[in-house]
Amino acid sequence: MSGILVLTEQSSGAWHPMSFEALAAGIQLGRDLSLPVTACVFGRGVSGLASELAGRNVQAVVALEHEALGQYTADAAVAAIEWLVRDLQPDYVLLPHTYQVRDFAPRLATRFGRVLLSDTTGYTIESGAAVFQRQLFQGKLTADFAFQAPAPNFVSIQAGAFRADALESDAASVSEKAPVLNVSSLRQHPEAPFREAARAVDLSAAERIVAVGRGIQEEGNIPLVQELADAFGAELAASRPICDNGWLPMERQVGSSGQTVAPKLYLSVGISGAIQHLVGMKGSRCVVAINKDPEAPIFEIADYGIVGDLFDVVPALTEAVKKARS
Ligand SMILES: Cc1cc2nc3c(=O)[nH]c(=O)nc-3n(C[C@H](O)[C@H](O)[C@H](O)COP(=O)(O)OP(=O)(O)OC[C@H]3O[C@@H](n4cnc5c(N)ncnc54)[C@H](O)[C@@H]3O)c2cc1C
Repeated sequence: MSGILVLTEQSSGAWHPMSFEALAAGIQLGRDLSLPVTACVFGRGVSGLASELAGRNVQAVVALEHEALGQYTADAAVAAIEWLVRDLQPDYVLLPHTYQVRDFAPRLATRFGRVLLSDTTGYTIESGAAVFQRQLFQGKLTADFAFQAPAPNFVSIQAGAFRADALESDAASVSEKAPVLNVSSLRQHPEAPFREAARAVDLSAAERIVAVGRGIQEEGNIPLVQELADAFGAELAASRPICDNGWLPMERQVGSSGQTVAPKLYLSVGISGAIQHLVGMKGSRCVVAINKDPEAPIFEIADYGIVGDLFDVVPALTEAVKKARS
């Protein structure tokens, strides 16, 4: 095959939404390079999910099925996908830049003597080849990367870099493939998923986020913003000082040392907009900022800005949202 292979991600039969952003990237790249696109879902019992992919305007879909893929381990994922890549021989392998992909994809690329070009934000076409962009120095610079090595080349796509809803529907053929694995060489044997994972929040999958910063002044005021988040049906997130103070758990931190998010709505409350925060949320579709300082840098990237005291604005906005949604 000469073409693009897009690897999607599912867990217990539920899609990771970034799968469709990687798919959108693959379809766009396929059009620009005139290459066919194959989408792959791997796991156990994934034929239903594969049929869903078939309606997403790709040329082919692979359901990569194996007993050893039932519960994720990097060991089995690498072995199975290595088998598939050798079978299909794509030019590019595109993956969503999820935690799971960060876990296995560098090793997968190494199996082919390649590197993973990670967390890319876009590409241009130069002399018939893709030149990918990724950010450096916590978003201060964007650099271009062109592959010198022959295929296959491995690229992961940053959350929010491509719009999943840009996918059109069509119908592709689905094939089921069973990778040939030497199961005895798999060293990782999963146990039941870590219980705390059930409580952990994956902000990268959130459609709406209300994020709170140091403008909130003290821990006792956090419920004010939680109420606004609840009114919107949004996840609550925070800038680093809030998490450093222990006012919210670290898993809710957005930014260069926290999560990268790309919701449809990102409402920031009392956040100045330091570069380390912006780098984690500037892929958001619509940014609304509340800050009492009209010069706050967050307003440079906000689609809507409210200059005012959050202690006046937030309760009024919460009431208005509740009323509008009731
Ligand atoms: C290596 C490194 C990594 C980092 N990683 C991250 C990261 O991942 N995420 C992150 O967020 N930061 C990170 N930081 C910290 C970052 O540099 C900023 O210090 C931090 O983002 C500031 O948080 P803040 O906007 O909440 O606070 P501040 O910068 O103090 O801003 C508070 C804002 O609230 C406004 N305000 C105050 N009172 C009110 C009010 N009553 N009504 C309305 N507005 C009000 C102020 O005008 C101000 O703009 C990192 C820093 C370093 C050095």
